[in-house]
Amino acid sequence: MGVNFVGLVPSASFDNKVPECPHGPMLLFEKADDCGSKAGRQFYACAACRDRKQCAFFLWRDERLPAEKVRQWRQRAAGESRAASHRQRYDRARTILSGGGAQYCLTCTALVPASAAAEHRSHPTRPADTESARRPTQLLRPRACNKSSAQYLFSPDTVTVLDGVLGAAGVRRVLCCGTPRLHEHLLSAGQRDSLLLDLDERFEEFWPPETFSVYNMFNHHLISEEGHRAYREFVQRDGGRGLAVFVDPPFGARLEALALTLRTIADECGSQPAVFLVLPYFNEPDVLRNLPGLHMTDFRVEYDNHNKYTSAAGGRKFGSPVRLFASVAPQLVTLPEPTYRLCAPCGRWVHADNRHCDRCRSCTSKDGRPYRHCAPCGRCVKVTWQHCAACDRCALPDHPCAGQDRGVNRAVSAPTQPKRPAGHQPKKKPKRRRK
Ligand code: SAH
Ligand code: ZN
Ligand code: ZN
Ligand code: ZN
Ligand code: ZN
Repeated sequence: MGVNFVGLVPSASFDNKVPECPHGPMLLFEKADDCGSKAGRQFYACAACRDRKQCAFFLWRDERLPAEKVRQWRQRAAGESRAASHRQRYDRARTILSGGGAQYCLTCTALVPASAAAEHRSHPTRPADTESARRPTQLLRPRACNKSSAQYLFSPDTVTVLDGVLGAAGVRRVLCCGTPRLHEHLLSAGQRDSLLLDLDERFEEFWPPETFSVYNMFNHHLISEEGHRAYREFVQRDGGRGLAVFVDPPFGARLEALALTLRTIADECGSQPAVFLVLPYFNEPDVLRNLPGLHMTDFRVEYDNHNKYTSAAGGRKFGSPVRLFASVAPQLVTLPEPTYRLCAPCGRWVHADNRHCDRCRSCTSKDGRPYRHCAPCGRCVKVTWQHCAACDRCALPDHPCAGQDRGVNRAVSAPTQPKRPAGHQPKKKPKRRRK
């Protein structure tokens, strides 16, 4: 069971073009067959919304639509785009802000001039001026409506570290994909240029088309021609030199689609930009499979509005499980002391709690917990695990055991078995991301 990503594929019904929904070209998926042997039926679905309640556009690949249906489809897809242009909304917002006494209405998700305050009396509002409008992620309520568009904002400390990492890597321009808080920091710090690409159209009131465009990162779709021009100019400046792409994708992102997008950006900028990606440590295998140029750093990415993904009180005991992945050389990803330290043998910055293992020749903790080396396994394991002679591997003391009844502690403390051949490690079930 499950659904596999196929790609951006033309459809006969749509004159051999990729069918589009209001969120741009749709992705082709394949329903995986139960036993995984036969190829399942293929279908087009929205690249941005995984819930059909948010975007109802759907088409079986083997379904041939009559011309009239195709016409209606196109009309509906175009009709759902908004009336005012980005430029118009931005200019109107500037006028409201300079008039004084403006408010941001959280119900209407729009700036309201002082003269219209009465109409929003019963709505929650926040005072807004030209200064607070520079930091819209503090003014707007983070989106939380559903998992594919929920917004988790970097903590101030995390933003500072990320800016430092970009500086050490020689980055002068950042294409911020789904990172509005990093974007607003970069613009006000003034060290690096930034262009934000994000699905959240509320930002149109706060940034002009030169610094923000509504965008879908899973099909590389820029909503407006103006946005497309700004993007091209931005990535191609200096022949693409000094450019980084920084992505914090939403929960459960399709990394195959994102990898395709990153390849397209590299093609369009004319050189290979530095890539930074933010995902939990347990997505590492998925990241390395789809984006083999990236490596996982030990930097724990923290969020303001996520009660688990923080080191603050109430957070996860071993800190945030979210990590920064980077394409630049590991030694360039400098992290602040004393929380992090440079490991000389590894040649990379790691968390101070991450101990170097001489036998593994690396700092082996992935999830932030201490690890210890198991000689029979020939690798480092979580300290809560014990080597099980019956299973010939390390596991939790009460694991379901291959040799005996469950619940019996079969741990041995002395190394007795030889190393297991590589590739014979029992597979761990991948955990789902919970942002
Ligand atoms: N940590 C980041 C925010 C990450 S939340 C920061 O502090 O800057 C994920 C972001 O991706 C949100 O801003 C959301 O609007 C955006 N997003 C969600 N789906 C998207 C898509 N398909 N394409 C582009 N952006 C998307
Ligand atoms: Zn209102
Ligand atoms: Zn090390
Ligand atoms: Zn080890
Ligand atoms: Zn072991």
